[in-house]
Amino acid sequence: MCHALLQNPKFLSLLLQIDTDLATQTRSDGCPCGGNLHRADYPRKPKGCPKEVRHAFDSRLSFCCGVCRKRATCASVRFLGRRVYLGLVVLLASVRRWQISASAAQVVQMLEVPQRTVARWRSWWLQIFPATPMWVADCARFMPPVCSEHLPHSLIERFEGSTASSLLHLLVFLRPLSVRH
Ligand SMILES: [Zn+2]
Repeated sequence: MCHALLQNPKFLSLLLQIDTDLATQTRSDGCPCGGNLHRADYPRKPKGCPKEVRHAFDSRLSFCCGVCRKRATCASVRFLGRRVYLGLVVLLASVRRWQISASAAQVVQMLEVPQRTVARWRSWWLQIFPATPMWVADCARFMPPVCSEHLPHSLIERFEGSTASSLLHLLVFLRPLSVRH
């Protein structure tokens, strides 16, 4: 049952580990101005996050340049953009027709995600996501093409392995969407 992933400390710590690695990369890339980056995380109060693991999701990893003061916020597999819900919740709750759709309904119920929020996420998948520069650039790597009418499940099922592994790979794939360019 994939809603159990939300209560699986191992899976959630893995997401944190990936974000930490992405942050290490951002820091070693440095600022385009040549300055050093200093840690300046944003506090987050995520919704859809089990109490026991909330500490792993209470900040968004970010840096500030010591010279030009510009921000460098790292790509993330824990958060999808500025949404207050975890990226995993956005994925799980948006799925309508897939083997996990029963779990999706449970996730929505368990986390008390308002119906209008779920409706907004679903229309984001169908109307906004297909037009994002990231998807426009990367969709060609999927053959046959991913059916955009059935996003996100048509995309989830392109990542092989267990449900946990396909969701993890999808979050990694979607990480450019977690930062503004
Ligand atoms: Zn700088």
